[in-house]
Amino acid sequence: MDIVQFKQEVIEYSKTIGIDKIGFTSASTFDEMKNRLIRQQAHHYQSGFEEPDIEKRVNPSLLMDKPRSIISIAVAYPSKMKVRVVSKRGERRGIFCRASWGKDYHHILRERLQKLEEFIQARIPEAICKSMVDTGELVDRAVAQRAGIGWSGKNCSIITPEFGSYVYLGEMITSLPFEPDEPMEDRCGSCNKCVDVCPTGALIQGGQLDAQKCVAFLTQTKGFLAEQYREKLGNRLYGCDTCQTVCPENKGKDFHLHKEMEPDPEVAKPLLRPLLFIGNREFKEKFGPVSGSWRGKKPIQRNAIIALAHYKDETAVDDLIKVMTEDPRPVIRGTAAWALGKIGGEESLAALKQALQQEKDGEVIPEIEKGLSFIEQ
Ligand code: SF4
Ligand code: SF4
Repeated sequence: MDIVQFKQEVIEYSKTIGIDKIGFTSASTFDEMKNRLIRQQAHHYQSGFEEPDIEKRVNPSLLMDKPRSIISIAVAYPSKMKVRVVSKRGERRGIFCRASWGKDYHHILRERLQKLEEFIQARIPEAICKSMVDTGELVDRAVAQRAGIGWSGKNCSIITPEFGSYVYLGEMITSLPFEPDEPMEDRCGSCNKCVDVCPTGALIQGGQLDAQKCVAFLTQTKGFLAEQYREKLGNRLYGCDTCQTVCPENKGKDFHLHKEMEPDPEVAKPLLRPLLFIGNREFKEKFGPVSGSWRGKKPIQRNAIIALAHYKDETAVDDLIKVMTEDPRPVIRGTAAWALGKIGGEESLAALKQALQQEKDGEVIPEIEKGLSFIEQ
């Protein structure tokens, strides 16, 4: 088999199975990424969701015997909804980030990579392939950057000239000696918009992210959200797109190439109040298919409460009082107490005073006190 010609065949085949960009790189270690990860660890910038063993994240030979190359794939997703939500006056909605619109991309990319593996192994049966998407050990962005898919922007996204940064990434380590493609040159230049606009200062110069400060990460935590970040959340229920939407490279980039990625507006931008009382089954039915539900309903509900406070939605006061007094989960009760304080008013004040008499939980009581202090000051 002529490997140069076979690479071309793989590229041609990838276009027929919904892969929008493909690149190839060697299976050597990702030294630059290793240094970045070591710095990240030293500064405690990691999210905690990633593979803890840095060596595994940068050394393909620890993941597969005798790897010779890595194939990187990118699939473009939409940045604008074709169908807009229609809200009645005063109805408040939250938002899921664009990467969580449509069907969970992990499934979509795994299925594409599986087809690619089958194509390769049908022609070269002895070929060994190992695919991964997001939750695999390798750093998708490092692979994509070296394989020429795009450059690594200061917003820590891979930016492709064709689709901007609105791409999902996946990769496959192979035992085949495909010729590597050239990495793409950094085109951020003197632009610094993403760093300047980040609401929490999570982007450190030089394309480093402090995940502990990043709203995208914070929306996925399950405990109480640290006070200093609550007002930064806005109406975000899951993820944050700010450093992507502001990027000039994303201007006008809105691709609708895959129908399974089209968002249902009622899921991507749901009404906030119904989320407070949504049952497990309904949550699973409605939000289970999107990637933003992977942490379950609690973080989404906590964020919905924070979003109601952000809007100072007085029509939500009765619901929030019910949540503060009846929800079994301290994080939800306490966040509701904080939100009532932010919204204010006589009804909130009376309910908070009463809750202070009845609440027993050591984490909720300070939240009630905070809520009271907002109104009484
Ligand atoms: Fe900042 Fe949001 Fe980008 Fe995170 S996702 S770095 S919080 S702008
Ligand atoms: Fe690069 Fe500017 Fe885009 Fe940030 S906003 S990723 S600096 S081009």
